[in-house]
Amino acid sequence: MVRLAGVNKHFGELHVLREIDLEIGRGEVVVVLGPSGSGKSTLCRAINRLEPIDSGTVEIDGTELPAEGKELAALRSDVGMVFQQFNLFAHKTILENVTLAPTKVRKKSKGEAEERARALLDRVNIGEQANKYPAQLSGGQQQRVAIARALAMDPKVMLFDEPTSALDPEMVGEVIEVMADLARDGMTMVVVTHEMGFARRAAHRVVFMADGEIVEDSTPDAFFSRPSSERARDFLGKIL
Ligand code: ADP
Ligand code: MG
Repeated sequence: MVRLAGVNKHFGELHVLREIDLEIGRGEVVVVLGPSGSGKSTLCRAINRLEPIDSGTVEIDGTELPAEGKELAALRSDVGMVFQQFNLFAHKTILENVTLAPTKVRKKSKGEAEERARALLDRVNIGEQANKYPAQLSGGQQQRVAIARALAMDPKVMLFDEPTSALDPEMVGEVIEVMADLARDGMTMVVVTHEMGFARRAAHRVVFMADGEIVEDSTPDAFFSRPSSERARDFLGKIL
């Protein structure tokens, strides 16, 4: 579903992505771990080419994403993204937040978009809040809306970049539950997270990054019990 080949990215002198090769199968859940500054967010942004890359190719479902233009915009909408900051539209209701892109970009009718939005809001256990505004919701609820909003575009892949890092601790679980549910349902997912419980429970693979490189790519069990690199052992020693 996702194939990165020979992807390189620099910020000035800093080589943030080094010869990244990564293939993610349909329905696969890949958790990306690594120290701060190792390039995890840049990798996520490279997958939908939000971040220009210096070399290499990015394919989604067998189609190479061009560097820019109309075709990129269309292909990019196949990739849903959820960030640490929920970025909901403050002056639109929850329902409007979820129907906006499907009506504007996918040209769905209002009725069709609303029906789908209500089903998705129910799915993330937020159906009752449809007519409220983002500020009336808790952080955990807002992040669940952000997930519903991304799903409303019927993406082929969902990227999550530290989706629970800005939440109060008691709200982390409700967001992780929604993500685990999506994973069980067969969604293809790339998840940058510090929630090791999610990595152990829901991931098919753990990709460990350090200094812009993929240092390990293994099962959660192998990664947590037998990390093969010094850098992964050092990282695990600090977080576990
Ligand atoms: P991570 O998500 O693993 O913490 P990032 O992908 O955000 O890492 O960043 C990787 C490196 O690139 C860091 O050293 C960061 O400071 C640098 N970086 C990220 N974005 C930019 C940018 N827009 N301009 C310059 N440097 C950046
Ligand atoms: Mg990051």
